[in-house]
Amino acid sequence: MAQQKPRETKLKDKIIYAIVVVILTLVALISGKYTSENSQSSENITVSDAEFQIHMIDVGQGDSIFIRADDQTMLIDSAESSEGETIIQYLNAQGVSELNYAVATHMHADHIGSFPKVFNAIKPQIMLEPVFPDDLIPTTKTYEKYLTAVEDSGAEYKALKAGDSFTLGNAEISVLAPVSEEANSLNNTSLVLRVQYDDIVCLFTGDMETQEEKTLLEATDPSLLKATFLKAGHHGSDTSSGEKFLEAVQPEYVGISCGVDNKYGHPAESTLEHLRNYTDKIYITAQQGDIVFLYDHDTKTCNVVTSGKE
Ligand SMILES: [Zn+2]
Repeated sequence: MAQQKPRETKLKDKIIYAIVVVILTLVALISGKYTSENSQSSENITVSDAEFQIHMIDVGQGDSIFIRADDQTMLIDSAESSEGETIIQYLNAQGVSELNYAVATHMHADHIGSFPKVFNAIKPQIMLEPVFPDDLIPTTKTYEKYLTAVEDSGAEYKALKAGDSFTLGNAEISVLAPVSEEANSLNNTSLVLRVQYDDIVCLFTGDMETQEEKTLLEATDPSLLKATFLKAGHHGSDTSSGEKFLEAVQPEYVGISCGVDNKYGHPAESTLEHLRNYTDKIYITAQQGDIVFLYDHDTKTCNVVTSGKE
Protein backbone atom coordinates (compact mmCIF):
# COMPACT_ATOMS: atom_id res chain seq x y z
CA MET A 1 0.00 0.00 0.00
CA ALA A 2 2.97 2.36 0.12
CA GLN A 3 2.38 5.12 -2.41
CA GLN A 4 5.26 5.85 -4.74
CA LYS A 5 5.45 9.34 -6.14
CA PRO A 6 7.12 9.99 -9.49
CA ARG A 7 10.80 10.75 -8.97
CA GLU A 8 10.53 14.30 -10.37
CA THR A 9 7.72 15.21 -8.00
CA LYS A 10 9.66 13.73 -5.10
CA LEU A 11 12.74 15.78 -5.97
CA LYS A 12 10.63 18.93 -6.37
CA ASP A 13 8.95 18.27 -3.01
CA LYS A 14 12.35 17.80 -1.37
CA ILE A 15 13.71 21.04 -2.81
CA ILE A 16 10.61 23.01 -1.74
CA TYR A 17 10.74 21.39 1.69
CA ALA A 18 14.45 22.18 2.06
CA ILE A 19 13.85 25.84 1.14
CA VAL A 20 10.96 26.10 3.62
CA VAL A 21 13.09 24.47 6.35
CA VAL A 22 15.99 26.89 5.75
CA ILE A 23 13.74 29.98 5.74
CA LEU A 24 11.80 28.93 8.83
CA THR A 25 14.97 27.89 10.67
CA LEU A 26 16.50 31.31 9.99
CA VAL A 27 13.33 33.04 11.16
CA ALA A 28 13.30 30.85 14.27
CA LEU A 29 16.98 31.51 15.04
CA ILE A 30 16.53 35.25 14.65
CA SER A 31 13.43 35.46 16.78
CA GLY A 32 14.37 32.71 19.27
CA LYS A 33 11.04 30.95 18.80
CA TYR A 34 12.24 27.37 19.06
CA THR A 35 11.29 25.90 22.42
CA SER A 36 12.80 22.82 23.96
CA GLU A 37 11.29 20.17 26.18
CA ASN A 38 9.06 21.53 28.95
CA SER A 39 9.62 25.13 27.96
CA GLN A 40 6.70 27.37 27.07
CA SER A 41 6.17 29.73 24.20
CA SER A 42 3.11 31.24 22.57
CA GLU A 43 4.67 31.12 19.11
CA ASN A 44 4.07 28.57 16.37
CA ILE A 45 6.08 25.37 16.25
CA THR A 46 8.88 25.67 13.73
CA VAL A 47 9.76 23.14 11.06
CA SER A 48 12.14 20.40 12.16
CA ASP A 49 14.24 18.12 9.99
CA ALA A 50 13.88 15.18 12.40
CA GLU A 51 13.19 12.02 10.38
CA PHE A 52 10.16 11.00 12.41
CA GLN A 53 7.74 13.57 13.81
CA ILE A 54 4.43 13.46 15.61
CA HIS A 55 2.51 16.74 15.86
CA MET A 56 -0.50 16.80 18.14
CA ILE A 57 -2.15 19.97 16.88
CA ASP A 58 -3.96 22.05 19.53
CA VAL A 59 -7.53 21.76 18.20
CA GLY A 60 -9.54 22.15 21.41
CA GLN A 61 -11.77 19.20 22.35
CA GLY A 62 -10.91 16.71 19.60
CA ASP A 63 -7.96 15.03 17.89
CA SER A 64 -5.82 16.02 14.94
CA ILE A 65 -2.37 14.51 14.68
CA PHE A 66 0.08 15.12 11.87
CA ILE A 67 2.85 12.57 11.32
CA ARG A 68 5.87 12.91 9.10
CA ALA A 69 8.15 9.94 8.45
CA ASP A 70 10.98 10.89 6.09
CA ASP A 71 9.29 12.39 3.02
CA GLN A 72 5.81 10.99 3.68
CA THR A 73 2.94 12.51 5.62
CA MET A 74 -0.23 11.41 7.36
CA LEU A 75 -3.01 13.25 9.19
CA ILE A 76 -4.86 11.23 11.83
CA ASP A 77 -8.28 12.82 12.47
CA SER A 78 -9.37 16.40 11.87
CA ALA A 79 -11.18 17.56 15.05
CA GLU A 80 -14.50 19.46 15.04
CA SER A 81 -15.63 21.40 11.93
CA SER A 82 -14.58 24.68 13.60
CA GLU A 83 -10.88 23.68 13.50
CA GLY A 84 -10.31 23.45 9.73
CA GLU A 85 -8.42 26.72 9.42
CA THR A 86 -6.20 25.87 12.42
CA ILE A 87 -5.24 22.53 10.85
CA ILE A 88 -4.67 23.99 7.36
CA GLN A 89 -2.49 26.79 8.77
CA TYR A 90 -0.52 24.30 10.84
CA LEU A 91 0.10 22.00 7.86
CA ASN A 92 0.98 24.96 5.61
CA ALA A 93 3.52 26.12 8.18
CA GLN A 94 5.04 22.63 8.03
CA GLY A 95 5.36 22.92 4.26
CA VAL A 96 2.68 20.29 3.59
CA SER A 97 0.78 20.68 0.32
CA GLU A 98 -0.45 17.10 0.00
CA LEU A 99 -0.99 14.20 2.40
CA ASN A 100 0.03 10.64 1.58
CA TYR A 101 -2.58 9.40 4.05
CA ALA A 102 -5.54 10.81 5.94
CA VAL A 103 -6.96 8.64 8.71
CA ALA A 104 -10.40 8.82 10.31
CA THR A 105 -10.02 6.77 13.50
CA HIS A 106 -13.81 6.67 13.94
CA MET A 107 -16.87 8.59 12.82
CA HIS A 108 -17.42 11.12 15.62
CA ALA A 109 -17.51 14.85 14.84
CA ASP A 110 -14.49 15.67 17.02
CA HIS A 111 -12.40 13.39 14.75
CA ILE A 112 -13.83 13.85 11.23
CA GLY A 113 -15.42 17.32 11.47
CA SER A 114 -12.78 19.33 9.58
CA PHE A 115 -11.85 16.84 6.86
CA PRO A 116 -14.11 18.63 4.30
CA LYS A 117 -12.38 21.97 4.88
CA VAL A 118 -8.88 20.47 5.08
CA PHE A 119 -9.39 18.45 1.86
CA ASN A 120 -10.41 21.63 0.01
CA ALA A 121 -6.90 22.94 0.66
CA ILE A 122 -4.75 19.82 1.11
CA LYS A 123 -5.69 16.58 -0.65
CA PRO A 124 -5.00 13.09 0.67
CA GLN A 125 -3.79 10.37 -1.71
CA ILE A 126 -5.27 7.60 0.44
CA MET A 127 -8.11 7.79 2.97
CA LEU A 128 -8.09 5.19 5.74
CA GLU A 129 -10.91 4.38 8.12
CA PRO A 130 -11.87 1.40 10.29
CA VAL A 131 -14.16 -1.42 9.27
CA PHE A 132 -17.25 -1.01 11.44
CA PRO A 133 -20.67 -2.63 11.78
CA ASP A 134 -23.63 -1.39 9.71
CA ASP A 135 -25.71 -0.70 12.80
CA LEU A 136 -23.18 1.93 13.89
CA ILE A 137 -23.18 3.87 10.61
CA PRO A 138 -23.88 7.45 11.73
CA THR A 139 -26.88 9.37 10.41
CA THR A 140 -25.27 12.73 11.15
CA LYS A 141 -24.75 15.61 8.69
CA THR A 142 -21.08 15.59 9.73
CA TYR A 143 -20.71 12.00 8.50
CA GLU A 144 -22.49 12.79 5.22
CA LYS A 145 -20.19 15.75 4.63
CA TYR A 146 -17.17 13.60 5.44
CA LEU A 147 -18.20 10.96 2.87
CA THR A 148 -18.76 13.62 0.21
CA ALA A 149 -15.41 15.26 0.99
CA VAL A 150 -13.53 11.95 0.66
CA GLU A 151 -15.23 11.25 -2.66
CA ASP A 152 -14.59 14.78 -3.98
CA SER A 153 -10.93 14.61 -2.93
CA GLY A 154 -10.34 11.75 -5.36
CA ALA A 155 -8.48 9.81 -2.65
CA GLU A 156 -8.16 6.06 -2.85
CA TYR A 157 -10.32 4.73 -0.02
CA LYS A 158 -9.52 1.80 2.27
CA ALA A 159 -11.29 0.34 5.31
CA LEU A 160 -8.82 -1.35 7.64
CA LYS A 161 -8.93 -3.85 10.49
CA ALA A 162 -6.46 -5.68 12.74
CA GLY A 163 -3.78 -7.46 10.73
CA ASP A 164 -3.52 -4.87 7.95
CA SER A 165 -0.27 -2.98 7.48
CA PHE A 166 1.34 -0.30 5.37
CA THR A 167 4.40 1.95 5.35
CA LEU A 168 4.91 5.69 5.75
CA GLY A 169 8.45 6.60 4.69
CA ASN A 170 10.60 4.17 6.66
CA ALA A 171 7.90 3.73 9.33
CA GLU A 172 6.14 0.37 9.49
CA ILE A 173 2.49 0.78 10.44
CA SER A 174 0.35 -2.09 11.64
CA VAL A 175 -3.33 -1.94 12.41
CA LEU A 176 -4.06 -3.47 15.84
CA ALA A 177 -7.77 -2.67 16.03
CA PRO A 178 -10.65 -2.91 15.32
CA VAL A 179 -10.13 -6.60 16.06
CA SER A 180 -13.68 -7.58 15.09
CA GLU A 181 -16.84 -5.99 13.74
CA GLU A 182 -18.68 -6.46 17.01
CA ALA A 183 -18.02 -3.13 18.69
CA ASN A 184 -20.83 -1.76 20.83
CA SER A 185 -20.05 1.92 20.26
CA LEU A 186 -18.33 4.11 17.68
CA ASN A 187 -15.51 4.82 20.14
CA ASN A 188 -14.77 1.09 20.23
CA THR A 189 -14.53 0.92 16.44
CA SER A 190 -11.46 3.17 16.65
CA LEU A 191 -8.61 2.37 14.32
CA VAL A 192 -5.57 1.66 16.50
CA LEU A 193 -2.26 2.15 14.71
CA ARG A 194 1.12 0.87 15.82
CA VAL A 195 3.80 2.96 14.15
CA GLN A 196 7.38 1.73 14.33
CA TYR A 197 10.32 3.86 13.24
CA ASP A 198 13.73 2.33 14.03
CA ASP A 199 13.22 1.07 17.60
CA ILE A 200 10.63 3.71 18.42
CA VAL A 201 7.05 2.44 18.72
CA CYS A 202 4.09 4.82 18.87
CA LEU A 203 0.47 3.90 19.48
CA PHE A 204 -2.43 5.96 18.17
CA THR A 205 -5.62 4.79 19.77
CA GLY A 206 -8.40 7.16 18.66
CA ASP A 207 -11.17 7.03 21.28
CA MET A 208 -10.70 3.34 22.11
CA GLU A 209 -12.26 2.58 25.48
CA THR A 210 -11.58 -0.22 27.95
CA GLN A 211 -13.82 -2.75 26.16
CA GLU A 212 -11.76 -2.49 22.96
CA GLU A 213 -8.55 -2.38 25.03
CA LYS A 214 -9.60 -5.72 26.56
CA THR A 215 -10.37 -7.24 23.14
CA LEU A 216 -7.05 -5.94 21.86
CA LEU A 217 -5.13 -7.40 24.81
CA GLU A 218 -6.73 -10.80 24.19
CA ALA A 219 -6.02 -10.73 20.46
CA THR A 220 -2.52 -9.25 20.38
CA ASP A 221 0.95 -10.34 21.43
CA PRO A 222 1.49 -7.99 24.43
CA SER A 223 5.05 -7.25 23.28
CA LEU A 224 3.56 -5.44 20.27
CA LEU A 225 1.77 -3.02 22.59
CA LYS A 226 4.89 -1.81 24.39
CA ALA A 227 5.35 1.75 23.19
CA THR A 228 7.68 4.70 23.47
CA PHE A 229 4.84 7.16 22.74
CA LEU A 230 1.16 6.68 23.53
CA LYS A 231 -1.62 8.93 22.24
CA ALA A 232 -3.88 8.31 25.24
CA GLY A 233 -7.32 7.05 24.18
CA HIS A 234 -10.45 9.21 24.26
CA HIS A 235 -8.84 12.50 25.32
CA GLY A 236 -7.56 11.06 28.62
CA SER A 237 -11.02 9.95 29.74
CA ASP A 238 -11.32 7.50 32.66
CA THR A 239 -13.15 5.16 30.26
CA SER A 240 -9.81 4.53 28.50
CA SER A 241 -6.17 3.79 29.43
CA GLY A 242 -7.18 0.91 31.73
CA GLU A 243 -4.55 -0.52 34.07
CA LYS A 244 -4.07 -3.79 32.15
CA PHE A 245 -3.64 -1.91 28.89
CA LEU A 246 -1.08 0.50 30.39
CA GLU A 247 0.75 -2.46 31.93
CA ALA A 248 1.31 -3.77 28.39
CA VAL A 249 2.11 -0.39 26.83
CA GLN A 250 4.45 1.02 29.52
CA PRO A 251 4.62 4.38 27.76
CA GLU A 252 7.65 6.64 28.07
CA TYR A 253 5.87 9.64 26.53
CA VAL A 254 2.13 10.33 26.57
CA GLY A 255 0.16 12.83 24.50
CA ILE A 256 -3.41 13.82 25.39
CA SER A 257 -5.57 15.98 23.13
CA CYS A 258 -8.42 17.86 24.81
CA GLY A 259 -9.93 21.33 25.16
CA VAL A 260 -9.39 23.88 27.91
CA ASP A 261 -12.11 23.53 30.60
CA ASN A 262 -13.94 20.96 28.48
CA LYS A 263 -17.33 19.82 29.76
CA TYR A 264 -16.24 16.17 30.02
CA GLY A 265 -13.52 16.82 32.58
CA HIS A 266 -10.85 15.36 30.23
CA PRO A 267 -8.27 14.30 31.12
CA ALA A 268 -9.49 12.44 34.20
CA GLU A 269 -7.27 12.83 37.26
CA SER A 270 -7.48 9.05 37.83
CA THR A 271 -6.16 8.42 34.28
CA LEU A 272 -3.29 10.85 34.84
CA GLU A 273 -2.44 9.03 38.08
CA HIS A 274 -2.35 5.66 36.28
CA LEU A 275 -0.17 7.14 33.53
CA ARG A 276 2.21 8.65 36.11
CA ASN A 277 3.00 5.09 37.28
CA TYR A 278 4.93 4.81 34.00
CA THR A 279 6.10 8.28 33.12
CA ASP A 280 6.02 11.94 34.08
CA LYS A 281 6.39 12.94 30.43
CA ILE A 282 2.69 13.55 29.94
CA TYR A 283 1.77 16.33 27.51
CA ILE A 284 -1.72 17.81 27.24
CA THR A 285 -2.78 20.11 24.39
CA ALA A 286 -5.16 22.02 26.69
CA GLN A 287 -2.16 23.03 28.80
CA GLN A 288 0.81 23.02 26.44
CA GLY A 289 -0.74 23.84 23.05
CA ASP A 290 0.74 22.06 20.04
CA ILE A 291 2.85 19.10 21.13
CA VAL A 292 5.60 17.82 18.86
CA PHE A 293 7.49 14.58 19.44
CA LEU A 294 10.67 14.43 17.38
CA TYR A 295 12.88 11.43 16.74
CA ASP A 296 16.30 11.92 15.22
CA HIS A 297 17.45 8.86 13.29
CA ASP A 298 21.19 9.66 13.43
CA THR A 299 21.44 10.35 17.16
CA LYS A 300 18.56 7.96 18.10
CA THR A 301 17.19 10.60 20.43
CA CYS A 302 13.65 11.75 21.22
CA ASN A 303 12.70 15.31 22.05
CA VAL A 304 9.40 17.02 22.78
CA VAL A 305 8.65 20.59 21.75
CA THR A 306 5.51 22.46 22.79
CA SER A 307 4.11 25.75 21.52
CA GLY A 308 2.73 26.81 24.89
CA LYS A 309 -0.65 28.49 25.34
CA GLU A 310 -1.42 32.18 24.89
ZN1 LIG B 1 -13.12 12.05 20.57
